[in-house]
Amino acid sequence: MFFKISPDEIEEVSLLRRAETAHFVKAAEVICQFHQRDDYQSGRHLTKENKDLLHVNHYRIESKLNSSFSGNLNFSACAEVEFNALQPEQSWIYFYLFSDMEVDSVMWSTGEQASFFKEKENPYLWVHCQPALARDETRKLKLYYRGDLIENDGGWMVIKSSLGWYPLHGNRTYATFDLTFHTPKRMTFVSVGDNISSAVQDEVLSTRWVTPEPIRNASFNIGYFKKHEITDERTVPVTVLMAESGHQQIGQSLARQGILSGKSMEKQVGQDVANSLVFFSHLFGKPKIKHFYATETPISHGLAFPGLIHLAWSTFQATDDEGYDQIFRAHEVAHQWWGIGVDFETYHDQWLSEGFASFAGLWYMQIALRDNKKYFDRLKDWRDEIFSNRKFLFGSGQQAGPISLGYRTSTSTTAGDYGLIIYKKGAWVLHMLRNMLLDYLTMKEEVFTNILQEFYQTYRGQKASTLDFQKIVEKQAGKDMSWFFQQWVHATGIPEYRFAHKLEQTPQGKWVAHCKIEQRNVPDDFQMPVLVRIDFGQERFARTRVVVRGPLTRVDLPLMPMKPEKIVFNDLESVLCEVKNEKWVE
Ligand SMILES: [Zn+2]
Repeated sequence: MFFKISPDEIEEVSLLRRAETAHFVKAAEVICQFHQRDDYQSGRHLTKENKDLLHVNHYRIESKLNSSFSGNLNFSACAEVEFNALQPEQSWIYFYLFSDMEVDSVMWSTGEQASFFKEKENPYLWVHCQPALARDETRKLKLYYRGDLIENDGGWMVIKSSLGWYPLHGNRTYATFDLTFHTPKRMTFVSVGDNISSAVQDEVLSTRWVTPEPIRNASFNIGYFKKHEITDERTVPVTVLMAESGHQQIGQSLARQGILSGKSMEKQVGQDVANSLVFFSHLFGKPKIKHFYATETPISHGLAFPGLIHLAWSTFQATDDEGYDQIFRAHEVAHQWWGIGVDFETYHDQWLSEGFASFAGLWYMQIALRDNKKYFDRLKDWRDEIFSNRKFLFGSGQQAGPISLGYRTSTSTTAGDYGLIIYKKGAWVLHMLRNMLLDYLTMKEEVFTNILQEFYQTYRGQKASTLDFQKIVEKQAGKDMSWFFQQWVHATGIPEYRFAHKLEQTPQGKWVAHCKIEQRNVPDDFQMPVLVRIDFGQERFARTRVVVRGPLTRVDLPLMPMKPEKIVFNDLESVLCEVKNEKWVE
């Protein structure tokens, strides 16, 4: 183990260990990481620290994609990059570019050649600044580069790096883009921003895309697509692009295994895309886009950019019966609000993007399929995954970290925890809030929807932290909620409840339920309101909330006019927990 102190990092101090990898691979990984002491003492707003060396304001990129004999697309580009220096006296600056790109030349806006250095298969492009860049100085570079970016895999166009096609610097910064692409006419091409012109000449389609305001990442998609257009006055026009020919091949091989492919998949996908856009616009507020493209990619996951999403090929093959496809499609759509609309401040806050998008996807599925059971079934699946992961604690593995650890929850010994904790436990946190704020008498959930609306409206176009979200929750709920965020976002405890009850008739003929709840596996001050349903049979029931706090809670439920048949502890999955019903022991 060793300490590393690096003034260039936002969290300067880290403790590292050797990652558990194959013997011939030597890699270090972070155990824990902090700011330097001065940062804490000065009380600076730690999350707003910026250690980038420069900030790119604007890109003007002209790209050409030509078919080669192999069927791949040759990519070449001229990128004009306008940037500000954030640090003094810089004689070398660097950009990140997809490692297979070759740089032909780099020029200053004065027309002067710049010296540069880029190793083959190394993503860093170094540019020499002479004279050295002064702090706050603005300069413009023109870079010519090309590379093997897009591969034709049996008719599927595989973009090998969805971000590395233009020179990037810094940690998730914002810039405006003016993009022109020259692409083969017989292929369909889409990008981000407003499509302000399209023209065809000599078998070449030239399109120009301009972002009306700064965005984090620009991307595009290209392929032999079948197009499906949807107009719905409740939302922006939607274009679905499906790589049809690829599916016919896959469909045939799946059919040989007895797996059926869906019909008119572009319409099935399009329906979820358009309906989730309508649903989320209604719930959270209008997104800042004029058009929405949902495009297919041969990769196995999704990616979201402003007004453009890439969806995995599998969701275009068939729609499953369990609601996973609705969740997946709506998750990527939801990033227009969570992740893009409201960006997250640091990696500690990434659940505000992925946890929120996962929850929004789940919520959409519940509404679209009108299926509460599937909503709870998927939540239970996620809970089971979280629990089976924690069981490693008693084996050789290590328990999962908290949500606020972000990507660092995944290490060589806890691979997969990022998806589990940030996405799935993150979604559970929102579900628990939804449940706690539910008016169980009227089943209205205005407080919860007001929170999401206010959070979106307040932080749209900005970066938000968990604390920013907590403050809005507290304002709308009208009470302190720090304990909730401490328990569920910043800590790892997940309770086990052992519930026992005893019914007793009062002299007046009413019924009372004495309840005893043992709380395990969490710190003694752990507390949660748990929803309880009292069943009287024949679909008659009542609900109440019981606050469980500490190792043992004893509580009497409100007096009941008749004898209940059953008492359900943790109704509507109100808490991420394990419940064991036990016999009453005096
Ligand atoms: Zn996502």
